[in-house]
Formats: sequence, structure tokens, C-alpha cells
Amino acid sequence: MAKKPPRIISVANQKGGVGKTTTTINLGAALAAKGLKVALIDLDPQGNASTGLGIDHNDRDKTTYDLLLNEMPLADILRKTAVPGLVISPANSDLSSADLELVSTARRIFLIKDALTGPDIDVLDLDYILIDCPPSLNLLTLNAMVASDSVLVPLQAEFFALEGLSQLMLSVREIRETANSKLRLEGVVLTMYDRRNNLCHQVELDVRENLRDLVFKTMIPRNVRLSEAPSYGLPVINYDPSSLGSVAYKSLATEILARHSKQDGA
Ligand code: ADP
Ligand code: MG
Repeated sequence: MAKKPPRIISVANQKGGVGKTTTTINLGAALAAKGLKVALIDLDPQGNASTGLGIDHNDRDKTTYDLLLNEMPLADILRKTAVPGLVISPANSDLSSADLELVSTARRIFLIKDALTGPDIDVLDLDYILIDCPPSLNLLTLNAMVASDSVLVPLQAEFFALEGLSQLMLSVREIRETANSKLRLEGVVLTMYDRRNNLCHQVELDVRENLRDLVFKTMIPRNVRLSEAPSYGLPVINYDPSSLGSVAYKSLATEILARHSKQDGA
């Protein structure tokens, strides 16, 4: 039986600093550690996911920009990382102009979809593609959602956490109704969670009451190892395997895989 196409997940939240990039890198690494083949697409002009996986800023000839606007095949762009099974399409500041250049392109919201479908992708034999979105609901993020099976939303456990989420949900619904009927919410993962902080706990209760099953059981704790790892160009799972951050992202990967095998079986 032919292998299924890779599942494509956008990691999105228009707020900056909520843990999108940290989640993309470490969920990707956790899935790869389970023997899956995973490609990350760095879609943020800041290129933090690329830096966090050890790709130097001066060493990014072929980037996600070429994937979108130069029709370069993904296979020519993907770079190895220190983690077996985990590859990345790097990004740099070229992408910041892409948002504007896309406006005048006929298939402006389908460019990533076009780039991630077809025989070129099949030969890569990937299980997952994770897209690290920029902190905005711009054309780049819309492109990611049009190409995706689902959207994974990291939500920082802080006051007003739910604000802004409704706008993201609205975009997801719009794209489902217009350009990508299969798009669903993968779920919401609470990040930078601090057990000792009562406000964090209140926010958790609030978010769970509102979003119910959409919220993952796994919460990502605030853990200094998670913020240190990128400066070594490594996911936390490799930098400090026994850290709380590492344990949490492995647990998130397990939860996601369980949901997917249930969906596949249904
Ligand atoms: P985004 O991609 O949404 O802008 P990042 O993943 O880059 O957010 O996270 C913002 C900052 O917070 C980074 O410096 C990152 O290292 C740090 N960070 C993210 N998640 C955690 C966490 N669970 N514990 C501690 N620091 C974190
Ligand atoms: Mg980021």
C-alpha cells in the first residue's frame, strides 16, 4: 500500500513570544525521536527555528522564500539537523518581503500548498511537516493554513490568553469555508506554565472550560532548559533529555500521535 502523504500542521498564533517556535522545534524533534520523518518549514522572516536548529544566518543560500516564490523543490532546500529524521527549510529576512510580493501573485494563498504537494514531496517519504508561522495573520500564515491538515495553537498561560484566539479561530473557519475544507484545529497547548503561579492555574481552568477537548492534557512548563537549548542549536530533547521541557514535549508528541491514530482508525 502506498504511504499516505505527510500530515501538515501549522503552528500558529498571531501573538509573538507565546512558544510557537519552541513548540515547532521540540515537537518536531520528539516526533523524530519516535522514528518518524519530519520536516520543519521555517516561515518566519526572523528565522528563529533555523537558528535554534543550528543553521547559521550566513549559511542560508536556499530558503523557504525560494520554495514559495522561486518554485524551488523542497528537497533542494531541506537541510539536515543534529537530530536524525528531522530536516528544516530555513528562513531569513528575504521572507519579510514575500508577504508583499505575494499580493500580486495569482495563486497567492496556494503557494505553500502547491509546493508541498506532488511527486517531489512523495519521494521525501515524510510523516509530518510542521510549519512555524510568523506572529501575524498575514499572507504567509494564510498560505500555511491553506496547505495544512490542522493548526496547532500554543497559548501562553497568562491573563487575556483567550483574547486574540477568537480572531485566529475566525481565520481558520474562513479558510475552511473557502480554500481548504479539511482544515481543523489540532488543538491548543498551554505553554510557559508555572504550577506555583495561581494566575496560571486560573487561566488553565478558564481555557479548559471554554475549549474543552481542544486543549491538550500536556502543558509545557516554564523551563529554563527550553530557552537555553536554541543557543546550542539543539532541541531540548537532545540538549537535556531529562529536563521538564523535554519530558513535556515528548508527552505532547505522544498525545498528538494517539489522536492521529484514532482518527486514522475511525
Ligand atoms: P514565538 O515563536 O511564539 O514568538 P518562542 O518559541 O520564540 O515564541 O518563545 C519566546 C521566548 O520564550 C524564547 O526566548 C523562548 O526560548 C522562550 N520560551 C518559550 N517557551 C518556553 C518555556 N516553556 N519555558 C521557558 N522559556 C520558553
Ligand atoms: Mg517564532
